[in-house]
Amino acid sequence: MICPKRTSELLDLHLAPFKDKDPAWEVGVSRIAGRGLMATRSLKRGQIIFKDMPLLISLSGHEEDSLNTCSVCLTELPDTRFMCRMGCGLPVCSLCSKKKQHKDDCDLLKSWGPNEPEVANSVIIRLLCVARALNLNKDQRDLIYCLQANLDNNHRVEVRNAAKCFKNFPTDKKIFEIMNRTVAVLRTNGFDKTTDRTNDNQEFNYRALYPLFAVMNHDCIPNAYYTFEEKTNIMIVRAAVDIPEGFEITTTYTKLFTGNIARHLFLKMKKGFTCKCSRCSDPTEKGAYISGLYCRDTNCSGLVVPEITGLPHPNYNCLECKQKSTHAQMMKSQDFASGAINAKANSNSLRTLVQYLNEKSDNFIPSSNYVVIDAKLTVLQRLGQGREDCSEELAANTRLRYSRDVIQVMDQLGLGESLVRTQLQELLRREEERRAKRLAEDAEKQRKLAELQAKAAEADKLLAALEEAARAEEVAAAPAPAPAPAATETA
Ligand SMILES: [Zn+2]
Ligand SMILES: [Zn+2]
Ligand SMILES: [Zn+2]
Ligand SMILES: [Zn+2]
Repeated sequence: MICPKRTSELLDLHLAPFKDKDPAWEVGVSRIAGRGLMATRSLKRGQIIFKDMPLLISLSGHEEDSLNTCSVCLTELPDTRFMCRMGCGLPVCSLCSKKKQHKDDCDLLKSWGPNEPEVANSVIIRLLCVARALNLNKDQRDLIYCLQANLDNNHRVEVRNAAKCFKNFPTDKKIFEIMNRTVAVLRTNGFDKTTDRTNDNQEFNYRALYPLFAVMNHDCIPNAYYTFEEKTNIMIVRAAVDIPEGFEITTTYTKLFTGNIARHLFLKMKKGFTCKCSRCSDPTEKGAYISGLYCRDTNCSGLVVPEITGLPHPNYNCLECKQKSTHAQMMKSQDFASGAINAKANSNSLRTLVQYLNEKSDNFIPSSNYVVIDAKLTVLQRLGQGREDCSEELAANTRLRYSRDVIQVMDQLGLGESLVRTQLQELLRREEERRAKRLAEDAEKQRKLAELQAKAAEADKLLAALEEAARAEEVAAAPAPAPAPAATETA
């Protein structure tokens, strides 16, 4: 483990622009793993714990990306002539081409001689984030070396492959070593557009390293969450729940709604550790049953959950009849449900998917299962873009119901504030407001109707009284009735 004190010093230098005199965190020895961030005072839910800025940030340069984005300001450029004319092989806007950042990038990459500098090459563009480590000062580079790096067999591949895109790529071992190390740190602790950092419903389109964030340890029920400032890409980390003084501040590296097995596998493969948090140690995941499936015994209505073994393919146990099932047996149910729901999700009809979730899926998969939660989030997201083929009423009811459902799962898991929660609560608030407004409008209509009816009744009464009076007057004014004619004498 690298000394917490040295890490702190380097972080202080990195964070100097924010000048937080009394930080709410300190680097300390963690109970989770190695070194972590500890709260120096008690923190209230929602309170900002720290801001971090990227030490390295650049385009992800994935093959499927469009590459016409400025490598400095990261804004999209018109589709023609966006490559630097100096021959460095980077896309850059005319304004940024004069900035120091580009001059540094440009000098470095030009000296390596890109094979085809006029053509945007995703390998070179992706490498920029790593190459920039060579232009950092000593303290900044030491900070990179301070951070956890998974030095597995794959971390050298990127630079080795990128070297083929240049005529004079450096052969100096030290340069290779710095870049390989940076790749490893980015893979372990960095953000990358396609990796599963999108745990909180937020898009992050770049490849970046936030050093203070990188020191935070993982918990599947994190007590902190982060957002990004749009223009500056500054990261803001807030308390997700109340955090007592001295407690470790944690984040999550996985998606919030994946089950125990999937999270284990991801953390093991991508991050190289086994999580032992309270959620991972509980087969029911705090009673949220995210991995829950129905018992295979048709006479049993119990839920089946995976055993906690740390193995990638654990057995499942029925919580009711205690029957054991193998991983393969239960995966059949899970795969069937995933396939059926995804088929509806991929069909063009949103209404079909909603009806399926509301009426059918419960027959073969518990509504607590992550496939159902994911599908509900998909529905909410699609509703956010338009009603598609849903009636207004169905859309409104679905927004209310699904956002309540997902919030309930979050509460069950003990997940505090997060971006997803904020978005769902906002959705719920707007929907409830709309509903209240509709109810108020209906009540107002009723009131007006009643008022009109009352007025009409009043008018009727008045009319009746007038008619009565007129009739009485008529009677009074009429001449006295002629005496009845005398009986005629009969002849
Ligand atoms: Zn620019
Ligand atoms: Zn250039
Ligand atoms: Zn965990
Ligand atoms: Zn059972």
